[in-house]
Amino acid sequence: MAIELRTPAQIDEMRPAGVFVGEVLTALREAADVGVNLLELNDLAHEMIRTRGAESCYIDYAPSFGRGPFGKVLCTSVNDAVLHGLPHDYKLADGDLVSFDFAVSVDGWVADSAITVPVGTARPEDVKLVETTQKALDAAIAVARPGKKVGDIGRAIGDVGRAAGLQVNTQFGGHGVGRTMHGEPHIPNDGRPGRGYPLQPGLVIAIEPWFLHTTDEIVMDPDGWTIRSADGSRGAHVEHTIAITDGDPIVLTARAAG
Ligand code: MG
Ligand code: MG
Repeated sequence: MAIELRTPAQIDEMRPAGVFVGEVLTALREAADVGVNLLELNDLAHEMIRTRGAESCYIDYAPSFGRGPFGKVLCTSVNDAVLHGLPHDYKLADGDLVSFDFAVSVDGWVADSAITVPVGTARPEDVKLVETTQKALDAAIAVARPGKKVGDIGRAIGDVGRAAGLQVNTQFGGHGVGRTMHGEPHIPNDGRPGRGYPLQPGLVIAIEPWFLHTTDEIVMDPDGWTIRSADGSRGAHVEHTIAITDGDPIVLTARAAG
């Protein structure tokens, strides 16, 4: 699959999808409370999709690594689940750590973003894990400029994880974003500086660091989708879709608050 670059006009056309994804994640953050069922949160996101006239990237998604189609519009990964969590009949409990990963297309352009939110009384170590993951995303976005390469993004993520004493798993990472959710190039969550595809204006990518507390090993849940830590330790995952420009990258999925 060829790597496609977008014109400034096309990047402007991608903004509404990014804004909408940010709105849905903000609504989910506000709704994620003790006693709220993951299926209710999926329904909330689904209703927002219908109202907006957007199209879910997940509901019919059937990739090689999952037991498709996904059938839901939202990934909800709780505690030791970290990626691709399939919403199920579960009420959030005090002290849970939940990530929401959400992607839709609006007017034919995709945006993809994720947040991780403590529920009720946050554990200090969870707050720190989320902060580290966010710091890795920020560091990766900061190097996403012409003159740098995909390896520089990966290294920025890996360095933040290692500096926090975490092990870095590179089995799942970021990706090109456009008319479909997953395009080239792959954006690994670790890398060698100065190596890989050169970043250039018009490249639109999702960057999505995720870390686990005490392992880099993952296992697949029997549901065929949800990816968990092998040792039961908790995970965090954050993601933004960004457009590389001549100057600062544009964070298409930036949220008004949180
Ligand atoms: Mg995502
Ligand atoms: Mg993604």
